Amino acid sequence: MHLVTDEIKETALSLGFDKVGIVRAEALTEEGERLQDWLRRGFHGEMAWLEREPEKRAEPALLMPGAKSVIVTALNYFTDHPHSPSQTTGKISRYAWGDDYHDVLREKLEKLLSFIRGVIPGVAAKICVDTAPLMDKAWAVRAGLGWLGKHSNMITQELGSWVFIGSIILDVELEYNNAVVEDHCGTCTACLDACPTNAIVEPYVVDSRKCISYATIESRDETLPGPIASNLNGWMYGCDICQDVCPWNRFEKPTREARFEPRRGETSLDLGCIAEMTHEQYVERFRRSAMKRTKLAGLKRNASALADHDDLN
Ligand code: SF4
Repeated sequence: MHLVTDEIKETALSLGFDKVGIVRAEALTEEGERLQDWLRRGFHGEMAWLEREPEKRAEPALLMPGAKSVIVTALNYFTDHPHSPSQTTGKISRYAWGDDYHDVLREKLEKLLSFIRGVIPGVAAKICVDTAPLMDKAWAVRAGLGWLGKHSNMITQELGSWVFIGSIILDVELEYNNAVVEDHCGTCTACLDACPTNAIVEPYVVDSRKCISYATIESRDETLPGPIASNLNGWMYGCDICQDVCPWNRFEKPTREARFEPRRGETSLDLGCIAEMTHEQYVERFRRSAMKRTKLAGLKRNASALADHDDLN
């Protein structure tokens, strides 16, 4: 399988993935226990879907019977653009500037799988891009793509943390990477110190309920909690503060994927425009954008909170 493994990796890189690693589909026992502890502490907030079948997250064989290998890929999404300095706009998190990464990664992974099916006929496979209950960051770390930073994002030494992760589970044995990247956070605490809502409650542990990104994207509450609303720092959809201050992001490089360039050139949105947006306008404007996740009601809620606290942001 050595030759096939090399061919799979080469094909992944030729499809535009920036990193690829392959690991045995063993249970993520330690990582699964950490997830259970995080859930027990209620740090997932309203994300009730994370509570469902947590054992499946740690055990690929429960996700796909006969699972033997996990191919883990990373795709750089960094594009070098500033946010608008205008106080009448709200900032969009970098990951959502371009086309929806689910579509971009899935398309590339389907091409990779089609190559694999060509060299391993009859292989059973499952593609996972944030949609299947796979612990993608934990797998990426196991596959040697990077380490989990204290802000809980995966960091690569070559590109920093601006990468998406996508995986394919296969029912065949391949050659495995065993070179796990050691944790390079060291004594740094820049992300913990910079978070305006103290959401990184301890190194490597984020309380979603305190996180601006979670509140502005995942929460369905009609209003944002006071401590978040008054500390938005101009963020309307998501937040990149912990990654912006990370010294490892000095290694950020522009992505080769044109679909991650900001749609309509926008990295910020006009607060008044969102406040007045109709459902039809919303559907048209955010088609094939990851920003659909928060729905129009969520965007309007965030815009309103920003407008109310504009002197503080
Ligand atoms: S800011 Fe520092 S502590 Fe936080 S993830 Fe980056 S290197 Fe690690």
